[in-house]
Amino acid sequence: VLNSRIKAGDEMSDVTTELPAARRGRSEALIRSRILQAIFERRLPPGEKLTEDRLAELFGVSRTVVRQALARLAQDGIVEQQLNRGAFVAAPSRADARHVLEARAVVEPEVAHAVACRCGGAALERLRRHITTENEARAAGDRATLVRLTGEFHVTLAEAAGNPVFVRLLTELQALSSLSILLYARGEHAACPPQEHDDIVRAIERGEPEEAARLMREHIDHVAAEMDLSEPQERPVGLAQALGIKPRARRMPLR
Ligand SMILES: [Zn+2]
Repeated sequence: VLNSRIKAGDEMSDVTTELPAARRGRSEALIRSRILQAIFERRLPPGEKLTEDRLAELFGVSRTVVRQALARLAQDGIVEQQLNRGAFVAAPSRADARHVLEARAVVEPEVAHAVACRCGGAALERLRRHITTENEARAAGDRATLVRLTGEFHVTLAEAAGNPVFVRLLTELQALSSLSILLYARGEHAACPPQEHDDIVRAIERGEPEEAARLMREHIDHVAAEMDLSEPQERPVGLAQALGIKPRARRMPLR
């Protein structure tokens, strides 16, 4: 799944004269962002194995650098590391998915509120451009790009709020949301209903923090409604219950 689109060499050719530590840090960041992007675009599904050797080869870096990138993603809950088995893209449970949405429902209205209070012209322009790109991808039926862009909208909003903690939090929550949607979406929908991002940005443009927060709260509710997060019913106990036969109703054997 990690395909030839990775051009680590191109992007790192200008850093050959830098100190090794800085280079390593940049390679690590590149690996992390490529994996996150592949998750946003749903090209790396939950449970997919992330082989250290293969990643080292693809990015042209040492296994140590790959290991550090994976360890950082594991800290954020995006990668699961299993003893003697290696690293895998996380497969959040329904409970995990509910927790992610609960956190988003608390944090994101505050982000929207903050942006409506402090966002300047340049950040607004960037949000507008983002909405335009989303609309173009939707019109073109380019689902992979649309899914990535709708996820990135939420991170872009956090960036507009000018708070790096929000950005880190939203990047992590968004990656976990993408994985949850892959596992538990009811239909074939992209996670974010059309038009709602546009409505939020319009409220921000009008300088209405309360309205922006309200619209975001509704938006997260709609995202949650697109997923089936109720726990599956408990498995039947015993053969009789599984077959729907009352255990006490013993029957005479047929002759
Ligand atoms: Zn959205």
